[in-house]
Amino acid sequence: MKADLHCHSYFSDGKHSPEYLLRRAKELDITHIAITDHDFITPVNKSLAEDYHVQVIPGVEISCNWENQEIHVVGLGIDIQDKNLKILLELQREARKKRIFDIDKLLEKNGIKGLSTYFESLPCISKTRSHVADFLVSSRKSKSRAHAFSKYLGKKGRAFVSSEWISLSQTNEAIIAAGGISVLAHPSKYPLNKRRFNELIETFKQKGGDAIEVSYGGINAAIQKNLEEIAINKELYVSAGSDFHDAKAHWTDLGKFPAITSKAKKQAIWHHPRWPPQS
Ligand code: AMP
Ligand code: MN
Ligand code: MN
Ligand code: MN
Repeated sequence: MKADLHCHSYFSDGKHSPEYLLRRAKELDITHIAITDHDFITPVNKSLAEDYHVQVIPGVEISCNWENQEIHVVGLGIDIQDKNLKILLELQREARKKRIFDIDKLLEKNGIKGLSTYFESLPCISKTRSHVADFLVSSRKSKSRAHAFSKYLGKKGRAFVSSEWISLSQTNEAIIAAGGISVLAHPSKYPLNKRRFNELIETFKQKGGDAIEVSYGGINAAIQKNLEEIAINKELYVSAGSDFHDAKAHWTDLGKFPAITSKAKKQAIWHHPRWPPQS
């Protein structure tokens, strides 16, 4: 079994179609893939997945709020028809639209026009600041995406607009009510000190969280070891995925992340009772 349980398509801020992701998965001998777009359940062509012998685990990555810190939670094995989850994700995407609208206004105040036209040319359903960063680079207002975030889009940027996401507990509830498994995404990437980090893990578990990602693109061995130990101590399942967005970003690829180590494997997410049955 080779699973990549976190990646993005062009329905959010990835650069490729779901079909590309399936084809790439096949090339790389990936047996299980979850396309986890931001606040959108991406439709996947089932017969193509069957042709490629790739099992598709329905997934989504939800942005949420925990004590004024943005947290990302991946939902895996969700019922893609679940009404409540669909409504909640629609509201999240509406909040995203409004945020981009407000960012556009701030950019215009800074003499930068054309963001809404740029969005019209994109296939995305879920709008992100990542798209805005690409717009700023392609219109030569920023020399890189990192620059776009530091000068315009990040907390101290000229066009920063805060986000209004649903809460962490609402997120876990909605995923679980939709039959899914809730996974704390890339835990090492939040700007939290050790005490707050421990609080996050504790709260996540208390609020129904099932699993944490212990391996992802660019992670180092020490961080992975620490996350695996936390999962073992807290009796959380472990998940892993590349968080792949773009084949042109050469340091990432689908499936490119260290394997879960043997110590943590017995808690691998595919042992979870709600892991979808294989076809
Ligand atoms: P949003 O959900 O609209 O806030 O957009 C966040 C997305 O932008 C993330 O999923 C990342 O793909 C990307 N991103 C966030 N921060 C940065 C950064 N500092 N530099 C480059 N990309 C970033
Ligand atoms: Mn992203
Ligand atoms: Mn994320
Ligand atoms: Mn992601």
